[in-house]
Amino acid sequence: MSKSDTLEHATCEACGDTFTRAPGEGWKRLCLSCWKVSPAAKKAARDKLAQLTAELAETRAERDRLRLRVLALELDGQQAKPEGIPPEMLRRLVRLCHPDRHGGSEAANEATAWLLAQRASRGRAKA
Ligand SMILES: [Zn+2]
Repeated sequence: MSKSDTLEHATCEACGDTFTRAPGEGWKRLCLSCWKVSPAAKKAARDKLAQLTAELAETRAERDRLRLRVLALELDGQQAKPEGIPPEMLRRLVRLCHPDRHGGSEAANEATAWLLAQRASRGRAKA
């Protein structure tokens, strides 16, 4: 049985045109053209946009975290070990140069990544 055999014809409540819907889609009362300009479609689009915007922000934050992590991993091991920086000072320095405080600047990214690499290599040296 082809798909068109299962579709039923309905009349659009807005424009009176005939459109097709699957059995069980009795809630479809508008043809596609009328649905697209309906308030419900606009609300659905706004909700979708808000959801996608939130997802984009989340994804960008994750991307920034991962970039930082990659930089830290790349720098790890190629740097001299800073025996002289006490752990609490290292934490303070990381907080001070974190990209979140500097508009995500490249300099802040590199400095923070380097500091995190120092912390990572220190942790390994201890283990
Ligand atoms: Zn219509």
